[in-house]
This record gives sequence, structure tokens and C-alpha cells, in this order.
Amino acid sequence: MSKTTKEVEPNRANTLTAKLARLGLSRQVDLLLHLPLRYEDESRISPIASLFGDENALIEGTIVVCEIVPRPRRQLVARLNDESGIITLRFLHFYPSQQKMLMPGARIRAFGETRQGFFGLEMVHPRLSFASTPLPQTLTPVYPTTAGLAQAALRKLIARAQEKVSLPETLPEAWQQGLTALPTLPALMDAINLLHHPPPNAEQDALINRTHPAWQRVKLDELLAQQISLRLAYQARRASRAPRLPGNGEWTNALIASLPFALTAAQCRVVAEIGADLATPHPMQRLLQGDVGAGKTLVAALAACQAIESGFQVAFMAPTEILAEQHFLKFSEWLAPLGARIAWLTGGKKASAKNKERKAAREAELVIGTHALIQEGVDFSRLGLVIIDEQHRFGVRQRLALRQKGETPHQLMMSATPIPRTLAMSYCADLDVSTLDELPPGRSPVRTRLVRMNRREEIMAWARQEMATGRQTYWVCPLIEESETLELQTALETHAVLSEAMPEHAVGLAHGRLKPGEKQAVMSAFVAGEIQLLVATTVIEVGVDVPNASIMIIEHAERFGLAQLHQLRGRIGRGSEQSVCVLLYAEPLSSTARERLKILFEMNDGFEIARRDLELRGPGEFIGSRQSGLPMLRYADLESDVHLVEIARDLATLLIERYPEQANQHRERWLGDKEETLRA
Ligand code: ADP
Ligand code: MG
Repeated sequence: MSKTTKEVEPNRANTLTAKLARLGLSRQVDLLLHLPLRYEDESRISPIASLFGDENALIEGTIVVCEIVPRPRRQLVARLNDESGIITLRFLHFYPSQQKMLMPGARIRAFGETRQGFFGLEMVHPRLSFASTPLPQTLTPVYPTTAGLAQAALRKLIARAQEKVSLPETLPEAWQQGLTALPTLPALMDAINLLHHPPPNAEQDALINRTHPAWQRVKLDELLAQQISLRLAYQARRASRAPRLPGNGEWTNALIASLPFALTAAQCRVVAEIGADLATPHPMQRLLQGDVGAGKTLVAALAACQAIESGFQVAFMAPTEILAEQHFLKFSEWLAPLGARIAWLTGGKKASAKNKERKAAREAELVIGTHALIQEGVDFSRLGLVIIDEQHRFGVRQRLALRQKGETPHQLMMSATPIPRTLAMSYCADLDVSTLDELPPGRSPVRTRLVRMNRREEIMAWARQEMATGRQTYWVCPLIEESETLELQTALETHAVLSEAMPEHAVGLAHGRLKPGEKQAVMSAFVAGEIQLLVATTVIEVGVDVPNASIMIIEHAERFGLAQLHQLRGRIGRGSEQSVCVLLYAEPLSSTARERLKILFEMNDGFEIARRDLELRGPGEFIGSRQSGLPMLRYADLESDVHLVEIARDLATLLIERYPEQANQHRERWLGDKEETLRA
């Protein structure tokens, strides 16, 4: 193995090293695992007469004429003749050496794409060789490369790595033999050698769409490395220390007793799961997922109670001001009667106000805020538990920053955008997951209507009528991604139009540019029923909880993402009233937009919607990898290779427990120094 960790060509110019680094190739083993995108077939000679254009082909014949033609632009033109036909070879840039090679009478091979030109069949800039050179016995690999690194040079480096390095099997032999789920998987080196240089008769389709057994083997190994890495991170966390927060039931019981309703069975279960974690001296890292309206806030409050009872502080972070305020009010209602001091931190205050806030935060049992919580200067004296609401809205980096605020506090993350199982398995192996799979009783699912934009007036009249019976309405303005100003302007206009159209109703307005105090005033008025209709931008997307609001109208619904629409719709259907969500859409609809609206219309279950969203958008969006720079898998695909993910997971357990050396070797082989980012 010592060879594999050696630098690639350390004595060559830095630029080569730099170019290879851009491809993530720093070791010989990296080159070996740099696999082709596709192949060219230079192993067979095609008769010219059998070609008809638009295909890659290798031909061989005699040069009959070769000349420099001055027009339409200076170029080298040669004619090559085999027994079956004749073809033109055209070079718009050329070297004297090429001109020399193409002397009339020479026996030449040319590889390139054929096309039907004005003067018959031709090849532009074919790759040339003499007919006397032996034909390759395998397909020619085409690798992903980077500017300035020629395919031929990369091929040579990789071929050399193949000669120098051989990767020993890391999968235990017993397992290899007992591999019944995938009976045809080849040994690793056989798979790698085949993928670099497949024989001409290999099933090319299976190579290209990566279903070939050799690809399966490589993907399994890649997934295994990921699983091992995450599993080791998990073990490391389990071995590190955190304050024990066993609680004594004083606060938790008092809170439960004060509620006008009973916990759902699902809430009881996850509260127990979280409670057990908090009681251990190792940092909890748990994701609480549950559909919108499932009652995650109460679960968080009960976890907070257990930490406070144990003499520690709790930090609660929410993604928006509105949500932080609302949580502050809710927690004040629940916990202040028990004697909790609750501090609320907001961003964008004057220094003196900030200092006061910070001082309060140091002494409070519970500190609630937006990302202001993680800004410098806020320090906690006894931080025991960090709760992050709507965790998918935060970047990985922000979450890490908050975790580093205390010794190693326990961490509870909450999300209404469930992470599909395969993703949870492969990206969140270092995360325990609790699921609220039940809504509080008495909810009837929101009825969703799809309505064309040209019936907006009608919808306005309908909402006006409904509100006369005491119902409250959200009116969501279109998302305008390109321009926040335009979005704001639209919200102001909508507010003006609706206020005028419904003089008997109070119409409020909530948008991102309001000052924190103003937002709070609007939301409080809406909660109190002083406002019947709330015109809002997506600031109300997550978390907002006003049970009496039972109508939502979303303009230009086709512009929103699936998860976003589901979140928005989750603002209603929280009371006993039958709620209605109207999705106003403008034609023409793109096929994905149509698909999204159809899914929303047909489904209410957030987990199922998330699964469909994954199909539509791919995994990147779910885990915030765009923000975090998390490297995606190179070869395996979490959706189509899910059967391999499961095998890799079991295999990772086996290797770590019984073959720790191989486990390490395997991880090092695939991840090397890339591991840190994978874990963040
Ligand atoms: P989410 O999971 O989307 O964050 P919330 O925590 O905002 O949901 O809860 C939605 C609503 O359900 C709130 O008004 C909350 O008080 C209420 N709620 C929570 N748990 C229960 C329960 N067990 N029975 C009845 N209502 C509940
Ligand atoms: Mg919530």
C-alpha cells in the first residue's frame, strides 16, 4: 500500500500536479480510481463504404492526394482510399509533421467522427497513425479531464498507475464468497482493469449506463467507504463527552399538566427517545422529522424542560425572525409560568441593546433567536442543549458553529422536510432519527384546488365570502427570485388591491423588509384575529402557527418548489375547520411545474411528497450540500443504486467490527484527505 500514497510525479512541473489536483487526483490510487466517462472503439477497422456519417470510426487506407487548399480558408486536405471507397480528411490547423505523414502512397489509419460534407464523406481533424502500428486490443477510455490536460496525457498517467499499483481486496473473503445478493460481482482489480480497458466485445451499453457488474463492484466499494467513514464519525461522537441531562420530571410534568390536550402517541415516543439520549454523557445528535403541523415544537419544549431541570441552558435557533418571535411567545406561554427566564436575541440592533441582550442570554434558562445566536459575542455559561428548528434552512456551517458554542452540547434538529430513507442512510449515518408519524387528532386534511390565474377575481370574491363567517386567510404573493424589490412591490400592490376590494375586512401585510417589531405586530394582530387576511411573501413559509387561519391562496404557485409549497400549505389545516388551499397558476406550465402541482393536488403526506421531490430534483437539495460543499458520490447514485447502499451499510458494520484494518485501508483508499468535508 505504501506505493499508493506516493505523490503523482513529484518531479514534474507544478502545473501538472495542480491540474491533477483540480480533478481530485493527488495519489496514484486516485488515478486508478479515476474511471472513464465513455469509450472510443479503435480496435476495429471499418470499410469506408460502410460509413454514412455522424459516427466515430477507425478507417485504414492509402493516401491518394494531399494538398494545402487556400480557400475558403487555408487548410490541409487529403483523400484516403481503401478498397471499398474514398474519404476526405480535412485539417483546419495542422503541423508540418501531419502533412508529411499524409504523403501520397502512405498507408494510414484515421480515427474520428465521419460526416457527409459537400464533397462526400469526410473527417475533420481525425487522429492519425501509421497502418503498421498494432491495433489496440481494448476500447479506448475517455476520462473526465480539465483544461490544459490532454486526454492522451491523462491516459498515459492512468495506465502507468495501473502498472505500478494494485489494490488488495478489502472485502473479507468469506463475505465475497457468500455474496448471494450480487452473485456476479468481480474482484476489485478485475473490475477496475476492465473499466479502464474493456475488451471490444464488452457490453458497451452496460458500461455506459454503469450497470455492468464491474461498475456495480466499484460503486459498492465507493458506498462502503462512505458508510465506514460516517460510522467511524458516529463512534467518535459516541466516545466524546457531553453534560448528562437526566432531568427530574419537575418541569416536564408541569408543562404536560398545563396543556389543554394530551400528547399524541408519536410525541410520547420521540420525547422518550430524546430523553434517553440526553441522560447519557455523550452528545446527542438527533434529527426530529415530522410533517408540518405534527407538533414538533412541543417535543422541543419538553426536551428543553429536561435540560433546564438538570441545571443547564438551552439555545433554540429558528431560521426567520417571524418564527423566532413566534417561538419566543409560545415558549413564554408554556415555560414562563414554571419560572423560566427566556431571552430573545435578534439581529441588527444597536450595540447597547445587544450588550443587554447578551447579558440576559448568559443568565437565561432558554435563549431563542435566529442566526444572531451564533454571532460572536453571545456566550452561554452552561449550554447543555441546542435545538435547531427547520434545520434544512440552515447551512451545515451555521449548525456546526452553534454546536461549538458550548463544551459539546446535545443537539436536536427539527425538520418538516423529511430526508428520504436512502439519503438519511448515506448522508446522515452520524445522525439518529426520530419520526413523528402522526398528526394531533381532529385535523382534516387540507383540500387543495388548482385554479388558473385568470380566475383570480372569482377567488377573491370567494375568500371574501368565507371570511365573513370568521375564517382567516393567507394570501401568498408570487416568488420573484430575480428581484427582491419587485417581489416587495408586488406584495405592496396586492395589499392595496385586496384592502380596497374587501373594505369590511382588515388586511395585513408581512414581508421580509419589515423591522422585527413591525413583523411581530402584524403577526400578533393576525393571531388575535384583528386581521382577517394576511398578504405575505414567503417569510411565512416555515413554522408559522395560527390555527384559526384556514384558507390559503398562493399566486403563481408554479414558481415555487414542491417542498416550499408543502410548507406553505402546512400553515393551514391546523384547527378543526376544513381548510382550503388554492394554487393559482399561470399558463403555459413547464412539464416539471405541471408535475409539481399535480403532486400537491393529489397528496398531503409530506414524506411521500419529499420522495417525489427527490425524484424531480435529485438529492443535492435535501442536505444543503450546495451551501456546504459536500462532495457527491462520484459513481454511485443513491436512487438507482439503493440496493448497494443497503449492502454497503451492512458490510461497513461487519468490517469495522471484525476487520478494522481492512475498514481503515478501504476508507483511506477512497477518501484520503477528502474525508473532513464529507463529514461536515
Ligand atoms: P410543526 O411540527 O409543524 O412545528 P407545531 O409544533 O407548530 O407543528 O404544532 C402545530 C399545532 O399543533 C400547534 O398549534 C400545537 O400547539 C398543536 N399541537 C401540538 N401537539 C398537539 C397535540 N398533542 N394535540 C393537539 N394539538 C397539538
Ligand atoms: Mg415548526
